Amino acid sequence: MPGPIDLHTHSSVSDGTETPTELVKAAVAAGLGTVAITDHDSTAGWQEAFAAASGTGLTVIPGMELSTNYGPASVHMLAYLFDQADAMIIAETARIRDGRMHRAERIVERIAVDYDITWEEVLAQSVEGGTLGRPHIADALVAKGLVSDRSAAFESILHWRSGYYEKYYAPSPLDGVRMIVAAGGVPVLAHPATQGRYRVIEERAIAELVAAGLFGLEIHHRDNTEDGKVRLYELAAKYDLVVTGSSDYHGVGKHNRLAENTTEPEALARIVAAGTGSAPYRG
Ligand code: AMP
Ligand code: FE
Ligand code: FE
Ligand code: ZN
Repeated sequence: MPGPIDLHTHSSVSDGTETPTELVKAAVAAGLGTVAITDHDSTAGWQEAFAAASGTGLTVIPGMELSTNYGPASVHMLAYLFDQADAMIIAETARIRDGRMHRAERIVERIAVDYDITWEEVLAQSVEGGTLGRPHIADALVAKGLVSDRSAAFESILHWRSGYYEKYYAPSPLDGVRMIVAAGGVPVLAHPATQGRYRVIEERAIAELVAAGLFGLEIHHRDNTEDGKVRLYELAAKYDLVVTGSSDYHGVGKHNRLAENTTEPEALARIVAAGTGSAPYRG
């Protein structure tokens, strides 16, 4: 379908604020030709997104943003067109979601020592069976009037240096790539050059991921630094990696707007040709 291509969005299945149906409607309203639904560690939104896209002309790419841990850093791996019934994918994402749930509960227990907030209030901000994260804790804090919005929560109570924070279980990036490829999917490193605890992932690590089947780099993303983008372009050329761009839309949960960054049709064509575990839904 002609029209802008946005390969990274979240629904309420994880930490977006719109249901998959609302997300698809927003994509159509924004004039997108193709949207990928990439909830954190879950494929639970795929079928609803396909159904919502039916008859709209929008193409939906089934995807996910897999959590991985690389030493102290949390590395996000986009995965497209894999088989959502793959046993390894099911088991590993269930393990991550379970770990996230218990970790969020422990973070809330610590916050509750200092602030008037309960675990039930956090759960009320999330969808049953969804992927729980700090954004849901943020929403509960906002609902209680303790912070003004998600960003304010992340800069204070939910900051990793706040004293309340803890990490959650996730596989290594290498195991993530192997698992996605084994399920017929296409792995693309998400926002690999953000400012912060780690900057651009070192070349040695990228080379190892490429050997295992890493297919692309999400270069056009608002969180990548300008210096980082230059470096990522060099790596993409050297290792023949596809370059993607996307919004990382979270509904009203983030300032990111649909199609604020987009992917070239040639890049999408390479991803679609490589993905064998599931198919784009042409609505
Ligand atoms: P977690 O996965 O629970 O550690 O929480 C990280 C998630 O919070 C990421 O997926 C981001 O989408 C979201 N996030 C991080 N920083 C912010 C922010 N400043 N405002 C809104 N959402 C954020
Ligand atoms: Fe998120
Ligand atoms: Fe991410
Ligand atoms: Zn994301």
